Amino acid sequence: MTSETPCLTLPVRPHPFEGEATVGFLMRVARNNGYDTLRQLGKTFGNFDGLCQALGLTTEERQIQFGPYPSFWGPSVFSNGLMTADFNHSQLRWCPLCFQESAHLRGPWLLKISCVCNRHGNWLQERCPDCGSVQYLEKVNFDQCGCGTSLAEARAASPVADSVFRLSQAVEASIDGNPALPGFPSLSLPEWLKLISYLGQFTETCQPLKPGKIANMHQLDTASALMSQTGYLLDSWPKNFHALLVAIQCQTESGGKTKTRIRDTFGTLYHVLYTDLSAPCFQFLRDEFEHYLHERWSGVVNKRHRSFKPETLARHPRVTLKQAAKKAGVAPSTVRHFVRAEVIAGNQIELPSGRKLRSVDEQSLKQIAVLAKGCVTLGEAAKQLALPKGRVRELISEGILKPLVSRQLCNAATWSIPMQQVQGLFFAGTEASYLPPTISVGHILKHWHLRDGEFINLIRAILECQIQPVGNPTEPVPLGNIQLDEQQTQQWRVEIRYASGASISVDEAAHRLGLKQQVAYDLVKQGLLATTNDDLPGRRVPQASLEDFKATYVSLAEYAGSLKRAPRWLLQTLSVRPVTGPTIDGSRQYFFRRSDLHSELSSNGAGLIASSSLTESEQKPYDAM
Ligand SMILES: [Zn+2]
Ligand SMILES: [Zn+2]
Repeated sequence: MTSETPCLTLPVRPHPFEGEATVGFLMRVARNNGYDTLRQLGKTFGNFDGLCQALGLTTEERQIQFGPYPSFWGPSVFSNGLMTADFNHSQLRWCPLCFQESAHLRGPWLLKISCVCNRHGNWLQERCPDCGSVQYLEKVNFDQCGCGTSLAEARAASPVADSVFRLSQAVEASIDGNPALPGFPSLSLPEWLKLISYLGQFTETCQPLKPGKIANMHQLDTASALMSQTGYLLDSWPKNFHALLVAIQCQTESGGKTKTRIRDTFGTLYHVLYTDLSAPCFQFLRDEFEHYLHERWSGVVNKRHRSFKPETLARHPRVTLKQAAKKAGVAPSTVRHFVRAEVIAGNQIELPSGRKLRSVDEQSLKQIAVLAKGCVTLGEAAKQLALPKGRVRELISEGILKPLVSRQLCNAATWSIPMQQVQGLFFAGTEASYLPPTISVGHILKHWHLRDGEFINLIRAILECQIQPVGNPTEPVPLGNIQLDEQQTQQWRVEIRYASGASISVDEAAHRLGLKQQVAYDLVKQGLLATTNDDLPGRRVPQASLEDFKATYVSLAEYAGSLKRAPRWLLQTLSVRPVTGPTIDGSRQYFFRRSDLHSELSSNGAGLIASSSLTESEQKPYDAM
């Protein structure tokens, strides 16, 4: 083989520069010795070792070179963890200013990620400043374009942003194994490449769908974009990184439903942080991400997030309702109801399964405990008020008692009624010079057969001081136990019933007609005052029947009074016979049908009838006589 031929020598034997690209050194060797292409050199020397021997390079001189061999010598092996894929193998990048100082290829320029000259602080070039053609690594005179223009021309070299320059310097420091620059994590070169290629894809407006695949990494534009964005994100750490997280979270949330899962919200970035960049050296990213969640994530961070640091889980301020209940020392349902009733601010997130997950801020725990402590159940409220539970329910449905958590509204298992509300239904007595016969609300409820709504009316009358409790003015008693003036309360009941159009008792009808009770009973017996049997005890007089009676009949006494005549005289004078009375049917009082009196008036013209209230009745005369 040619490589083993000892006679092979090279007339010009250059020495490599510190950090020179291996392939660049080989180009110089080829050019200096009259080869046109690297491949020709490769044909002459079967491998790198053979060439180094021919050049008489020391071990150190072989080691100061950087980057892969030309591909025709087979795959390169890197001791520093880099891979062949990290390098550009065909396209060339350079710094014109560096070329002006020395026309050799700097090793780092070959890295796909390199785009900055750390010596001059400008962007590397990949195109001829004159003709614009991309430069390839195929020519041995690598510092000159095919058009003849020197690539050392500095026309196009533009300075880079400070954040990119500093990042680039941090990356270069890692090449030499120098300690990390201040403000930057301590990463090896392969770790830097990984970080930049992944993190650099995330901007506040755009996130990659498949961050593992980067197209066109060999192009300067791609590398520059990744470096710029990574430089920005690491700059003023972690301010810009947080801004990125805010932007991503807002984008997700504005896109529709609030995502319950952190990984859904942060999408590929989450995957990158916890999978692609899962190595411990990238923990600083996760620390900041979790720190961000601590401040900004309104959902729950729980044990399901196994990849999170334990501290993050422990510190997160949002807890599930169950956790909140446990911490506040109340039943989970209580917390749930507080959240439903919006007494406590909760956050609800819907899982993809449709299940709803609620969480509360840890700071609400104290409030929950206080609220729960200050509330009683319906049963307890009933006990304290000395009322049956059904009556307490009535008070709630009428809005007199306002529960914090309503069973009706929240479908809760128990009511939560604030103690204050219950105490509002304790009443002190009013001072009285005499003590009337009293009756308790409890007794009324038990024995008075109150109708629908009457209990509430009674409580309203008490609350509005229409009826005032009797008793000790300094000792409030619960609603069920308060004592009321019996007579006043009864009168109140009669009035509200009458006002509501309800039927009245015969006694009450007598009272309203200004008759003795026995007279009213006689009228009922004679069928003149119609009664009904409703669901109330005794014969009942509907209000309509009372009105009918008044319109149809008039007592002798009233008629005589209206004419200012003596009743006895009138009875003897009138040709009209009463419909009922002592001489008619043995009842106690005479009553005339108004229509009879009316016809008497029209037939004899007697000015007997002064009342205009006499009305026609279509009824047939009760008595034909
Ligand atoms: Zn330079
Ligand atoms: Zn050119």
